[in-house]
Amino acid sequence: MTTAGAGGFVSWAERAAKLTFQTGLYIDGAYVAAADGATLPVVNPATGKVVCQLACGGAADIERAVTSARAAWDDGRWRRMAPRDRMAVFARFAQLVEDQAEDLALLETLSMGKPITDALTIDLPETVVTIRYFGECIDKVAGQVTQTVHEATHMVIREPLGVVGAISAWNYPLLMAAWKIAPALAAGNSVVLKPSERAALSPLKLAELFVEAGGPPGVFNVVNGLGAVAGEALALHEGVDKISFTGSTATGKRLMISAGRSNLKRVSLETGGKSPQIFMPDLPDFDVAVETAVRGIFDNAGQVCNAGSRLLVHEDLKDRFVEAFEQKAKALYVSGDPLDPATSLGPLSSHAHRDQVLGWVRRGVEEGARLAFGGEGPANNPDGAYLTPTLFVDVTPDMAVAREEIFGPVAVLLTFRTEEEAIALANDTIYGLAASVWTSDVKRAHRMIKALQAGVVWINCFGDGDMTQPFGGYKQSGNTRDKSMACMEGYMQSKSAWFNLS
Ligand code: NAD
Repeated sequence: MTTAGAGGFVSWAERAAKLTFQTGLYIDGAYVAAADGATLPVVNPATGKVVCQLACGGAADIERAVTSARAAWDDGRWRRMAPRDRMAVFARFAQLVEDQAEDLALLETLSMGKPITDALTIDLPETVVTIRYFGECIDKVAGQVTQTVHEATHMVIREPLGVVGAISAWNYPLLMAAWKIAPALAAGNSVVLKPSERAALSPLKLAELFVEAGGPPGVFNVVNGLGAVAGEALALHEGVDKISFTGSTATGKRLMISAGRSNLKRVSLETGGKSPQIFMPDLPDFDVAVETAVRGIFDNAGQVCNAGSRLLVHEDLKDRFVEAFEQKAKALYVSGDPLDPATSLGPLSSHAHRDQVLGWVRRGVEEGARLAFGGEGPANNPDGAYLTPTLFVDVTPDMAVAREEIFGPVAVLLTFRTEEEAIALANDTIYGLAASVWTSDVKRAHRMIKALQAGVVWINCFGDGDMTQPFGGYKQSGNTRDKSMACMEGYMQSKSAWFNLS
């Protein structure tokens, strides 16, 4: 545990010990306690110890935050600000996040166990890029003058929606929040963010930094709280024009019901996945394919929406693949203290989640799948919510471990003989977030891209992408796309203005 932080050569553990936390709700540009004084413990899953207590908002706090966001919308303090001025706020906002990246990374590690190196090299840079990207989009969104009869002029004007409720997940706490709030704010909306109660420390700071960057108070509010209470109050609120959600498919379904029970607000959903990684016999580089497969499932301890949790391997490759996969997984992912920069595999996000994942492992064994390796907590970390990388073989498509999103470091391996069989297996799921195909045959690659029911298909890679890539799912993996300029449109509506010139 020796790493240089910004303030000199200190360990991350020492820095963590000295870190101070903002714990209130962030409403109208200030930290406030929950109306009923309720609090929520932040528990470090690596140790089981309480890091701090956060204010835990309820319906009354959602009411305060929506009222603040609505007032900001009504007086136009943000949406009527000149685009170039809003862009300058975004540029400063991104810079502040970048300047504080080390402290923000520590918040991720302490609240959900993410290895500090991952937080520093993945979550924080990508959060900064997200804010920069959508800031740059602000004056690039254009309306349209359409071709119509000579005696008329028709304009399509694009306007923000009003108040957006953003509800986010815990697996990349800052980044998942940024994928919502950045396009929503860039489009000119006011926002109330309800982060996951399992990783609520870092998203709270986003609103503070937005205001520090010159964003008007009230435009961006954060209410931490339980999903079933604060989240539901936001989803049912008549003053919210849209819910933008990242989380499980089950919660996504509830949100659509809440929208129907209230004001028919728009609901955009980024939900679960069970993504296939398909290995054809003509794959170009066996070692690269196996290492990518390992990273595709075990990064972030498998807590990734597009985790490549289903390995579909051609029968001829199977034995070699299983052996190489086990070797690589054990070499690359060794459980350790997430504050140690050398650690590649932290604990799962909570002890309760680890127990759920272990429940799936037991279920797999009961159903007759063979545990090739893993499925246990490492002996040297008894207090943490750890689980070693795990692989099931002899899996059939009807088994729960082959169908359900486990959201942990658990892969299942199924075999196929033909391209058609591989496609049928890949599509045999309620999900459709992502897929990968490993092949040297360009025609096969194109055929499979067309046949696979997934929002993203990677050829000879997995998980690659940048901000120009629309990201989202087919089927029950969601109904929207995050990232990319097209995503801004989801936070706007069109108004048709017709001029009769005769
Ligand atoms: P979750 O559905 O349990 O919670 C997500 C959010 O919804 C949290 O903020 C939670 O408080 C809130 N919530 C829970 N119940 C609610 C209710 N009744 N009304 C309103 N809000 C409610 O999901 P999670 O465990 O935080 O995240 C893991 C899931 O997120 C996985 O399924 C994963 O695949 C998915 N995910 C998807 C993407 C994507 O881009 N598609 C990205 C990351 C995570």
